Amino acid sequence: AYVIAQPCVDVKDRACLDECPVDCIYEGPRKLYIQPDECVDCGACEPVCPTEAIFFEDDLPAEWGDYRKADTEVFAEL
Ligand code: SF4
Repeated sequence: AYVIAQPCVDVKDRACLDECPVDCIYEGPRKLYIQPDECVDCGACEPVCPTEAIFFEDDLPAEWGDYRKADTEVFAEL
């Protein structure tokens, strides 16, 4: 799945929402979240993010590796 990392925090541009074909991007209090079980790995959201916050999970920069776990946990609690 794709993951939304730190550059989205307190920005929430929402450009990605219009691109996702399966509507699996959800708004949280401080950032947007991709539901990993619904994401079809199409990559459409990644280039439209103005803060370049979106990465394929295996390509996440090391310092933002925790965001993969954070996004998964958000939906696990629902
Ligand atoms: Fe949606 Fe595709 Fe981005 Fe996954 S990679 S969140 S399916 S736009």
